[in-house]
Amino acid sequence: MEINNSKLAELVRGAKSAGASDARVVEVSSIVVDDGLAEKCVEPRCPNYGLALSCPPNVEGPDGFRDKLKHFTKAIAVRLDVPYKLLYSKESYTAFKRLGELAVEVEELAVEAGFKDALAYTGGSCKVIFCKDEERCRALTEGGECRHPRYARRSTSGYGVDVAALAAEAGWKLSWSGVEPEDGGGKVASVYGLVLVY
Ligand code: SF4
Repeated sequence: MEINNSKLAELVRGAKSAGASDARVVEVSSIVVDDGLAEKCVEPRCPNYGLALSCPPNVEGPDGFRDKLKHFTKAIAVRLDVPYKLLYSKESYTAFKRLGELAVEVEELAVEAGFKDALAYTGGSCKVIFCKDEERCRALTEGGECRHPRYARRSTSGYGVDVAALAAEAGWKLSWSGVEPEDGGGKVASVYGLVLVY
């Protein structure tokens, strides 16, 4: 267990070096999965509902995620602070692109460290993030091959992950609504990823 703790600390450092505003180890048992949150993808319907392999109804949903969690004990929560204005602009996908890349970079570090089943979840739809100029998700429509297999990951939303609870568990003040940094500068908001480690 001591070896794993030092490896987890290394992953946290790796996440920060890769550009995360912060990263924390969380107990998988603390992750809250809420069917009601996943249902919001359907009603009110997300504009990206059904457009990609990584979004409902093409993912296993809360029950599938609960089953997945049974195989894990520790996870890394990843936070990325972005300008508030960006998160509420047409360019918001760029924030989720960076978040997704970060989460995957942590997943890759975890695999390198020996956690072969590590798996990253991110925010936003990969259709918008990576394939916004394409008519369709290729993984759904043209033979099953994702155009961006390295970085396209499933969104926590479709599984009903309570990101507010995750942020609280990590000790972060949830700031989708934006906070003024103490050292001045523009208002920032945060987006969150999750990497199941072992
Ligand atoms: S092909 Fe594009 S939209 Fe489909 S899963 Fe891959 S990244 Fe997402």
